Amino acid sequence: MAQISQRIRHITGGGSDGWDLYNRARELAAQGVPVVELTIGEHDIKTDPVILDAMREAAGRGQTGYAAIPGISALRAAVAERTERMTGVRTGPQNVIVTPGGQSALFAAHQLVGDPGDRALYVEPYYATYPGTIRGAGLVPVCVTARAEAGFEPTEVDLMAAAPGAKSLLVNSPNNPTGVIYGEETLRGIQRVAEEHDLWLVSDEVYDSQVWEGRHLSPRALSGMEARTLVVGSMSKSHAMTGSRLGWVIAPEEVVEMLWDLSTVTNYGIPGYIQKAGVFALGLGPDYEARIAEPFRRRREITQRLLAGQQVVRAAPQGGAMYTMLDVRGTGLSGDDFAWKLLEEERIAVMPGGSFGQATTGHVRVAMTVEDGAYEAALQRLLAFAARLAMAPA
Ligand code: PMP
Repeated sequence: MAQISQRIRHITGGGSDGWDLYNRARELAAQGVPVVELTIGEHDIKTDPVILDAMREAAGRGQTGYAAIPGISALRAAVAERTERMTGVRTGPQNVIVTPGGQSALFAAHQLVGDPGDRALYVEPYYATYPGTIRGAGLVPVCVTARAEAGFEPTEVDLMAAAPGAKSLLVNSPNNPTGVIYGEETLRGIQRVAEEHDLWLVSDEVYDSQVWEGRHLSPRALSGMEARTLVVGSMSKSHAMTGSRLGWVIAPEEVVEMLWDLSTVTNYGIPGYIQKAGVFALGLGPDYEARIAEPFRRRREITQRLLAGQQVVRAAPQGGAMYTMLDVRGTGLSGDDFAWKLLEEERIAVMPGGSFGQATTGHVRVAMTVEDGAYEAALQRLLAFAARLAMAPA
């Protein structure tokens, strides 16, 4: 075999991560062992049949050939309209490039911000693919820790310290895995860092429809930030369309033109019938997005109710998204050990916090992705399990 590039060999950082546990849970389920799976960010509902009808109809009408590479005009316009409505920033179709999901948008953005060997900052706790995405784009990932004590928001001091020589900063609010929404002061700090060090800001806003408390402020809306912010968006979470792979980058027009060139040599656009379904789904409006988000709002309330007054397990301040980050240090176990024990003894699968970085090694992430009754029962069992561990002699 000819040689395989270093770049692709090292896309993942190596070592084990939460996938081991996820795979074990799947294996148990396949053997018929009932496991409550609270691991990944997949809705417990499927894509709405009305959206599938729109997809089928578009395919039947012949939208099966190559589609416009940056996205069909109607979809670019619909995404621009949604962005303007939600953020207040004037946005036109020329500011939108459609990508195969938010993941591909993250990769495209990092192709744009730097050249091989350049440093790209990201914040931990982080969404599992971040460092690999940065490496895959040929850049060097540099992690800035957002500590549990700081409510999992990155501080300006820490960001400033890491910024010299970097080309970009990747942030994600509402956040996966913590559910934290960055406050305005944090965002202003991010702005000062980006301006002082002339960084691109890559703002992953795929959870912008899942806001439970306060408000989601897009950093692109801060005065002067539009020119240096690349917003990553997706219909995966907002419309329960994870498998349709519909995402985008919102950026200045010149940037969109460059990303168009990248799309030409990578994905060559995404299927027209899927884009048509995207136009239809966005046309269902904000009420529809609220309806898709509603189960997570209810389960977040269940979480808050059950966690109130808990001494052993504590929840991170969860302003949005479909996850709860639980601090399990009170049990005396690491997040990793807790998650494995919980799976083996209680048949409940959650993600070990360590798979999202060092800041959450004493935590586990719970995806609120099973029906309300089952969710409440699982969380109750998790809390009782933690209480027993805390009582047990060391
Ligand atoms: N960003 C974050 C923070 C995510 O959690 C996810 C998916 N779980 C993505 C991006 C990518 O989503 P998709 O590619 O499905 O749009």
